[in-house]
Amino acid sequence: MPVSRFEYIAPKSIEEALAALARGGKETRIIAGGTDLLVKIRHRMLFPRLLVSLKGIDGLNAITFDRKNGLTIGATALLADVATHPAIRRYYPTVAEAAGSTANVQVRNMGTVVGNLCNASPSADNIPTLMAMDATAVIAGPEGYRRVALDQFFQGPGLTALAAGEIVTAITVPPPPAGSGTAYHSISQRSKLDCSAVGVGAMVVMKAQDCTAVRLVVGACAPVPMRTHKAEKMLTGKPMTDALVRRAAQAASEETSPITDVRASAPYRWKMVSVLTIRALTDARKMALRKQ
Ligand SMILES: Cc1cc2nc3c(=O)[nH]c(=O)nc-3n(C[C@H](O)[C@H](O)[C@H](O)COP(=O)(O)OP(=O)(O)OC[C@H]3O[C@@H](n4cnc5c(N)ncnc54)[C@H](O)[C@@H]3O)c2cc1C
Repeated sequence: MPVSRFEYIAPKSIEEALAALARGGKETRIIAGGTDLLVKIRHRMLFPRLLVSLKGIDGLNAITFDRKNGLTIGATALLADVATHPAIRRYYPTVAEAAGSTANVQVRNMGTVVGNLCNASPSADNIPTLMAMDATAVIAGPEGYRRVALDQFFQGPGLTALAAGEIVTAITVPPPPAGSGTAYHSISQRSKLDCSAVGVGAMVVMKAQDCTAVRLVVGACAPVPMRTHKAEKMLTGKPMTDALVRRAAQAASEETSPITDVRASAPYRWKMVSVLTIRALTDARKMALRKQ
């Protein structure tokens, strides 16, 4: 089946890209790696007239880290770059692992972490960890720059807080809190080659054996990746025993509202939220205790 015809431009600056988006109007799409977008065009799910590539914009692929301000991942930084970046592997190992276990090597060398977020699939593998670590999207638009916490960024399958003509220029992640540990566990039909049927990201902050703070995010079990606030509340301020972890995992599962689709049935997903939450919390606790 022939692909619909479209124009392609590669601006050299964010300002030029914003101007192109404003000129192109509704039938314009941003393209980064194209690993989601071109599949949708190929399958005739989208019919854009103009694609505005971000790949020609100098410096937009930068990844920077400092201990005070934390991590910044530029919009065109590849999944492969994030997976192998020395500072990310050292200070944000779960962010690196999630990027490194997304898709296959070919897709990781084309696709971006920011594209994975902007595509807003509830099952996207890079969202749970970044949301658990309190990441923020930096957004450029006709009115200037604004920031939106990932908590508030996702509004439905394929829907984000982005207004027409806006571009996510980067994702920022605060420095990991002292005494914190993180983990991401996912399950999918074809090992890592397809999006997850369930994914759970966790960040816990420990003081001795007590959990002083926790953020728990479940992917693919609701219209958007979601924090499980009841489970978080059950854990916060308490000794993080295995029994409490199991009870919180059950509570997390009850907070979700999965559907049955090609990836898994709803009952299987409910069960797996509980199983993967136990694994994510246990591993995050282990990492946090190792740092004490
Ligand atoms: C074979 C295969 C396997 C895959 N496996 C997985 C997997 O295991 N796990 C997983 O999570 N994903 C998987 N994916 C999906 C995909 O690779 C990722 O979502 C990828 O990270 C998207 O990044 P991209 O740069 O290619 O985005 P693009 O396809 O270029 O863009 C995706 C969407 O985001 C928008 N967009 C991109 N960048 C910006 C920006 N900076 N600002 C605003 N909007 C923007 C685009 O307009 C488009 O709507 C797979 C894809 C394929 C083809």
